[in-house]
Amino acid sequence: MRKPFVAGNWKMHKTVTEARHFVSELVPALQVIEGVDRVICPPFPSLLAVAALLEGTDVQLGAQNMHWEASGAFTGEVSPTMLAELCQYVIIGHSERRTYFGETDETVNRKMHSALTYNLTPILCVGETLEQYEAGQTREVVFRQIKLGLADLELSDGNAIVVAYEPIWAIGTGRASTADAANAVISDVIRVALAEMFGDEIAQAVRVLYGGSVKGNNAAEFFSQPDIDGALVGGACLKVGDFTQIVQAATRS
Ligand code: PEP
Repeated sequence: MRKPFVAGNWKMHKTVTEARHFVSELVPALQVIEGVDRVICPPFPSLLAVAALLEGTDVQLGAQNMHWEASGAFTGEVSPTMLAELCQYVIIGHSERRTYFGETDETVNRKMHSALTYNLTPILCVGETLEQYEAGQTREVVFRQIKLGLADLELSDGNAIVVAYEPIWAIGTGRASTADAANAVISDVIRVALAEMFGDEIAQAVRVLYGGSVKGNNAAEFFSQPDIDGALVGGACLKVGDFTQIVQAATRS
């Protein structure tokens, strides 16, 4: 049994003051929901303050990106060792990083290795563009992103990583994938690639999320699919009520 998992990616939203207020309201609402791993991923400046507020709760913390080196002359970057003092998770290869900041499958792969080395659980994001979707290339694109993003990793525990299937055309657009179609990509492409690389047992143990315009009113449909283990949520994680509703829906999956 894979435990449901819901992560909120705040992207570049909320100052430290806003983050403190928000988390003070969010945590009591999330704390009463059992049986779901709940993770919030604020921007870097808020991590320290939010980590302090999450102490003693079951809500966990993630970062949205990191460099692969532990330290060095990399102005403006944040390292895995810095994050490991604060967070349990880190999002790797989000499509906004790939599209706007030049991340490639190779840099994603370096970050995956580094996150595992420094005891962070990476949430690897994969997904096709609208153009690739319309050209019928979803399966080959996602398969390649999994193979290259996870290349040469040694995994002995499926819980060491999380994967998020996020069709780019569904992110922030209000146009979510259908639950059936997302489930098919996860079962026929992502788990197949994972099985080729790490064996069936691990492929069945890795939590795979859907992301892309998940809201309170469509979350349950995604979570009812056998291969969708939760969601990576953008816009709807910025409001206490919306995010709580999505986490609550995951308890019934
Ligand atoms: C995301 O940024 O990962 C995401 C899924 O965003 P949204 O929920 O806003 O589509």
